[in-house]
Amino acid sequence: METQRINMTGHAALLDDLQAMQKQSDGSLTLLLVDAGYPGKIIAQHGQQAADDLLYQVATLLKNFCRKKDSVSRIGDHTFAVLLAGVSKSGHTVLAAEKIMRMQREVLETSDSPVRLDLSIGIASFPRHTKSPEDLVQKARIALEVARDTKSGYATYSPVVAATMASKWDLQQELVAAIETGSLELYFQPKVSAVDRQPVGAEALMRWTSLKHGPIGPDIFIPLAEQAGLMKDLTRYAINAALRQASEWPDIGRPLAVAVNMTPESIQDPDLVDIVNSALSIWGAPNRELVLEITESALVEDSENSFATLYRLRELGVGISIDDFGTGYSSLSYFKDIPASELKIDQSFVLNMLTEEKDRNIVETVIWLAHRFDLTVVAEGVESVEILEALAGMGCDVAQGYYFAKALPQEEFIEWLIDQSSKTARA
Ligand code: C2E
Ligand code: CA
Ligand code: CA
Repeated sequence: METQRINMTGHAALLDDLQAMQKQSDGSLTLLLVDAGYPGKIIAQHGQQAADDLLYQVATLLKNFCRKKDSVSRIGDHTFAVLLAGVSKSGHTVLAAEKIMRMQREVLETSDSPVRLDLSIGIASFPRHTKSPEDLVQKARIALEVARDTKSGYATYSPVVAATMASKWDLQQELVAAIETGSLELYFQPKVSAVDRQPVGAEALMRWTSLKHGPIGPDIFIPLAEQAGLMKDLTRYAINAALRQASEWPDIGRPLAVAVNMTPESIQDPDLVDIVNSALSIWGAPNRELVLEITESALVEDSENSFATLYRLRELGVGISIDDFGTGYSSLSYFKDIPASELKIDQSFVLNMLTEEKDRNIVETVIWLAHRFDLTVVAEGVESVEILEALAGMGCDVAQGYYFAKALPQEEFIEWLIDQSSKTARA
């Protein structure tokens, strides 16, 4: 079966099929919604042919899985609907999903395609969950979302999972509104020279207070934004808000750079260079006063495409910082090619470096290595003067952490800056 032959039948045709099969098969029927991952991302990384190959593999697998009385159709870009006639008992539906997962593993073992199958399955059954075709599809979609979210492979609909999803969608709606109305705030955490202890810039860290749920951390709302396809808007917002607020910082006699965090998805976005360029010109900031922080693992994930974007940004003079260094699995050869200007040693090595000799050795070695490649070294998680002094002794360039300040709202950050420069003037 070729992908082209599994026409994209769509929602209405699926409802018709459901109705027809419901009549034939004593009313018991299970719908498995099978999601084949994210061809949009696959197309960006490997081209259209690779995405077509992936769908072909899924189609073949599902066809091999189905019995004669079952049916399979492609109902969306990367979503397939499998209808299992006469099956509705929970144990049987789970066995079916597990069988598909097993077949996926077999395909993985024999395939030499660069694109990996990564299926998620949502399960809902007649008459156990509902008698209405429309409702069955909705319930299978909810289960599918849970399977994707929890990376559990498959999930069956239940009122409990429905409630969890409803509150997540609710939060996503609120996040959309927060981005539109500009009610997400950027806080600024100083980056300070380890040599003369003067500020050299700040990292912008996003904060969100939901009207219904109170403060929500970036560890929750960034993934939420990613899943809802809001990352591009959020990144554009963060870059513009950071540059706008940095333009209001007082002159302390030396330029201050503002750093904005990027997700893997944002650096794969071909529009990022335009977004950055237009923000720099709107806010009249010199290019070198913007830094983009990118985690080491994001760079490893898709080096070819993201390196191309990063090279263009580096050519413009924008700083590129490798964030959380030491937590990913990059090979040393990656230092040869990476267009970075700065490296941030992950706080997990810095926090205990005075008591853990191994951490201290890592910090020392990374500083040496980064300098060999002309990268400015920033240590994150500096919580005490003793750690600061030890880092300065090792030749670390910049420090960031609670010892200086936590992330502060704009007004408090400005006060902190003024305070620092008056301290220097007195000294
Ligand atoms: P990150 O980029 O590694 O940011 C550093 C985190 O460490 C921040 O947490 C910061 O508050 C915390 N931190 C700073 N100094 C210290 C210290 O001395 N000790 C300890 N224990 N922690 C310290 P936060 O603000 O909760 O941010 C968490 C993560 O969320 C960030 O990690 C970043 O990956 C992400 N994030 C925050 N804002 C944005 C944003 O605007 N866009 C994107 N894409 N990601 C963001
Ligand atoms: Ca960061
Ligand atoms: Ca970090």
